[in-house]
Amino acid sequence: MSSECIKLHKIFNGLPRFKFPFDLKKIPLNGIYVLFEKGESAHSFDRIVRIGTHTGDNLLRSRLKQHFIIENKDGSIFRKNIGRTILNTRKDPYLKVWNLAMTTKESVAEYGLLINKDYQKSIEKEVSKYIQNNFSFCVLEITKKDQRIILESKIISTVAQCNECKPSESWFGLESSIEKIKYSGLWLVNELYKKPVVETDIDEIKEFINFPNDGHLKARLKENFTKENSISPKKDNKIWVNINKPTKKCTIHTNFLCPYVLAIKETHRKGIEELKIDGGWESFSGFIEAVDYCKKWEENKDFSVTTCC
Ligand SMILES: [Zn+2]
Ligand SMILES: [Zn+2]
Repeated sequence: MSSECIKLHKIFNGLPRFKFPFDLKKIPLNGIYVLFEKGESAHSFDRIVRIGTHTGDNLLRSRLKQHFIIENKDGSIFRKNIGRTILNTRKDPYLKVWNLAMTTKESVAEYGLLINKDYQKSIEKEVSKYIQNNFSFCVLEITKKDQRIILESKIISTVAQCNECKPSESWFGLESSIEKIKYSGLWLVNELYKKPVVETDIDEIKEFINFPNDGHLKARLKENFTKENSISPKKDNKIWVNINKPTKKCTIHTNFLCPYVLAIKETHRKGIEELKIDGGWESFSGFIEAVDYCKKWEENKDFSVTTCC
């Protein structure tokens, strides 16, 4: 179980990450989203804390809007659960009212009077603030509804049943009033204990990744993407420089999710953080540092400097 979970963490940590405020246009119309939360890690990656999808066609963007932006907990179970946790941490009796769903005329008629509109609004604001400040996500584009639903369930079950994926001691979800959340370490209550992913599902997931359509590179990327010894996509933004001795070129990659960076491979001619016969890849924490490093090559060894991403 945990080996499949490691692969999933590796894949999803390697995909482009969205943080609030995100550009909705960059998000596909259909697919699965995977959420990460500040301070949470598993298998030396950012820990997956929620997986979700949508049923109706072309609703992925609006689903993410319902979670991150639209202040209505009855439109997002995720918001509702974050709100429950906020209220539970301060032993707020309003939790009882927050738990009520105001989705039908009948429920509004029956419980409407219990609602303190201003207070409810202020809780919604707190929920937005918590979600926008603490969660980031990546998406996997999947057009077919059946495939989305099946994979979502399998991914949830894999992470939920992995015995190495544990929340940190300070994980906010441990304050939840919902046992399943506390116990699973996920902001989820359904699909936790069903069938997990198997090898063929991992292959299927890899097929859904939008790699650049460059035949050779695509094949290499796919091969490298979940391999144990390939470079782990680092949480901190690193700037990578490719020193290519035969072509006398230094190429600066500012995006650590650039396909060329993700495909970095140590060979006997090219090193990682070490120069070999053909050169190698060096990483820097800042762009200026990387440029300074390249300038030295330019001056002393007649190299040209270019940037990639
Ligand atoms: Zn795990
Ligand atoms: Zn690049």
